[in-house]
Amino acid sequence: MVPKTEKIWMDGKFVDWDDAKVHVLTHSLHYGLAVFEGIRCYNTEKGPAVFRLKDHVERLFKSAHIFTLSIPFTEEQIFDAIKETIRVNKISSCYIRPIVFVGYGNMGVYPKNNPIQVAIAVWNWGAYLGEEGLQKGIKVKTSSFIRNHVNSNMSRGKVAGYYVNSQLAKIEAVSCGYDEAVLLDTEGYVSEGSGENIFIVRKGILKTTPLTSILEGITRDTVITIAKDLGIEVKEERFTRDELYISDEAFFTGTAAEVTPIREVDGRTIGSGSRGPVTEKIQKMFFDIVNGRVSKYQHWLDFV
Ligand code: PMP
Repeated sequence: MVPKTEKIWMDGKFVDWDDAKVHVLTHSLHYGLAVFEGIRCYNTEKGPAVFRLKDHVERLFKSAHIFTLSIPFTEEQIFDAIKETIRVNKISSCYIRPIVFVGYGNMGVYPKNNPIQVAIAVWNWGAYLGEEGLQKGIKVKTSSFIRNHVNSNMSRGKVAGYYVNSQLAKIEAVSCGYDEAVLLDTEGYVSEGSGENIFIVRKGILKTTPLTSILEGITRDTVITIAKDLGIEVKEERFTRDELYISDEAFFTGTAAEVTPIREVDGRTIGSGSRGPVTEKIQKMFFDIVNGRVSKYQHWLDFV
């Protein structure tokens, strides 16, 4: 169960958590068109701070733009509403879920003039792939389901309906005893996890999928910046499943997953079978940054 907080922001007003309801004929519930974000707020030494809030709000509006959803609020209003939701709930570290959806009105695929609704919820959410996963790494399965073609999933958008593909992959992986799935693209190259971008390390070089079939991850961008700062060469270049098998290290990135090492893929041990040294260095820097311990990256923190 999601641990409840007190209030949820809905269409400009705060409502009690238990009253944040919609009609069962809400358009998005039937046809999957809703755009959303996943954001984290960390309890830094200087107080709660949201990580890269502006970038997340910007991506929410870009997702809406791709799908011609007209959000009835400005970026600034949503930015402020997110911070207000954290304050109202008196929570110092949380996951933040803003969602823009097509409301109740007409039915049928075409959304017509149905209202566009916005909600923001916050709750406490620990390590998405487990504390142990962060330390020791997780077991990953290459999915038998592929990421949609770039003209099916316009992957710059973070859209609810896309997660059906992610769920097929995740359900399959979990039912086979793995922690997470990695999906390939329509040409067979490694794409991303069900809710994460993927990186590999080979011969000291960090490689990640180029921005084609994947979500333009904000953690991905953070890690690329960190790696370059640490003097690590980074290539945004497609790679194959067997290159993943023979990589020295591999890890997932995402707001929920943060930086999670991969210790095994399809029964093949990755590197030494635990968190590798490059992954550890990047992961440590990531957690130092999000927790406000690196002055150079204070501009990524929005204090609540
Ligand atoms: N890919 C997918 C499919 C995701 O759902 C996510 C999580 N939002 C990511 C990548 C990582 O994106 P970010 O780092 O911005 O959370």
